[in-house]
Amino acid sequence: MNLTDLDLQGQRALIRVDFNVPLNEAREVTDDTRIRAALPTIQYVLEQGGSAVLMSHLGRPKGRDEEFSLKHILPRLEALLGQTVKFAPDCVEDAALDVTQSLKPGEVALLENLRFHPEEKGGDEFFAGQLAENGDVYINDAFGTAHRAHASTAVIAKFFPEDKAFGTLLAGEIDALDKVLANPEKPLTAIIGGAKVSSKLGIIEHLIGRVDRLIVGGGMAYTFVQAQGGSIGTSLVEPEMHAQALAILEKAQSSGTELLLPTDTLCADAFAPDANTQVVPTNAIQADWMGLDIGPKTTARFVEAVLTSKTVLWNGPMGVFEMATFANGTNAVAGALAKATAESGAFTLIGGGDSVAAINQAGLADQVSYVSTGGGAMLECLEGKVLPGIAAIRD
Ligand code: AMP
Repeated sequence: MNLTDLDLQGQRALIRVDFNVPLNEAREVTDDTRIRAALPTIQYVLEQGGSAVLMSHLGRPKGRDEEFSLKHILPRLEALLGQTVKFAPDCVEDAALDVTQSLKPGEVALLENLRFHPEEKGGDEFFAGQLAENGDVYINDAFGTAHRAHASTAVIAKFFPEDKAFGTLLAGEIDALDKVLANPEKPLTAIIGGAKVSSKLGIIEHLIGRVDRLIVGGGMAYTFVQAQGGSIGTSLVEPEMHAQALAILEKAQSSGTELLLPTDTLCADAFAPDANTQVVPTNAIQADWMGLDIGPKTTARFVEAVLTSKTVLWNGPMGVFEMATFANGTNAVAGALAKATAESGAFTLIGGGDSVAAINQAGLADQVSYVSTGGGAMLECLEGKVLPGIAAIRD
């Protein structure tokens, strides 16, 4: 299942990568993070005497559409790899096989966008078999799509019963998740924030009973506060989630998870960076005022909880961190994760879209243990789901 278990000498490694990168109007790559993330696996294959056939999706084309051609990323890929890459104008049949069947050790080929074929998302077995003809071994290194049972991410694995493995990136994600969910060093603290309880309910339910402390911050905290009878002004709230919020509080108590909610709040009289602000108890926000960040007492409590933990998982901001006025709580949590990593050797994992943006904004991404690359895939892992892309390699 590991890259190092594969005999790659003289073999064509068919690698599912995630090159779904942002492009500008001129169809130039504006952020090559995902291409860089795939390099270790590609380089390992080449070092071991193999060749690499890369396949990916790009965007959401409806059928063949030049706008979404992977040829747009070819120049950046070649620059990063430091070698030429052969481009196949399709991912199956002769257009692909003409390139991949004659590939020599040390060479790299890139197949055209998988999603030009609806069979990719449909998980079509015949199509997966056609894709499989492009390689002798199969490597999945696309964590961002591992939660999809598509032809190239999951179905294809059955054509390589012995010769399949996780790439370096995917293996790193699995390892980081295991350190939090399977074998965490205790105390284990999870910080869940963001806008809505409803979108994090699955995660919270999976984590309760598994974590020692569950910190709930961000807009979603006000649903908990209101459910307990607090006044939250015009703060973000999901009244239809009151019952679930109360059930979570009860479950936390009965399962030995300490649940920490904000006790003070930085509220504002408008959703704007230059609004008037004041700090009040979270359950006593005046009418017409809205809570947009955790208050200083809460921040200190959350930071203390992080600094006394050996494992920390963070998903979701503590406030509207996109506006500097309301970013203090989120930045303080980011700083605490970096400090816990450096000073107490804690394992700190940032999982999920907005907390990744927040740790980058704080300039601390390289000071935590692991920053996940997969948004939706990471969320599903945190909900305890088995991802099809991971199961396909393990089966
Ligand atoms: P999510 O995608 O659910 O993780 O939510 C992230 C978004 O929640 C960010 O855009 C934040 O600005 C927003 N957010 C966090 N706290 C609050 C809050 N107190 N009020 C309104 N929006 C918030």
